[in-house]
Amino acid sequence: MNMAPTLTGVTVEQDAQTITCTWSDGFRFAFPMDGLRRACPCVMCKGGHEHMGAPVDLDVFRGTPLKRRTVRGAQPMGGYALQFTWEDGHNSGLYRLDQLRAWAEALSGRS
Ligand SMILES: [Zn+2]
Repeated sequence: MNMAPTLTGVTVEQDAQTITCTWSDGFRFAFPMDGLRRACPCVMCKGGHEHMGAPVDLDVFRGTPLKRRTVRGAQPMGGYALQFTWEDGHNSGLYRLDQLRAWAEALSGRS
């Protein structure tokens, strides 16, 4: 049985507008901040409870960011998720670590 790689580092690069995640197997991926904000998994951003299971359109991570973002904080939540605090104080999205890894693999063409 393979151990799932764990997230070992999160680096917020304000100038580059990216958040780089590093995993225990050496894989790393720089998420565009605007994409992460638009992929926010909270009920409000998803548009209601009935949409909570809907997959994120990965196009939010591609192309030109719509808006310059500021990340005020990236907080680990109970070892299973990351919580970002955005420039507007929004922080109700919990980004599951397995979801971040899946997005990173899909966007880098690894999966
Ligand atoms: Zn949200």
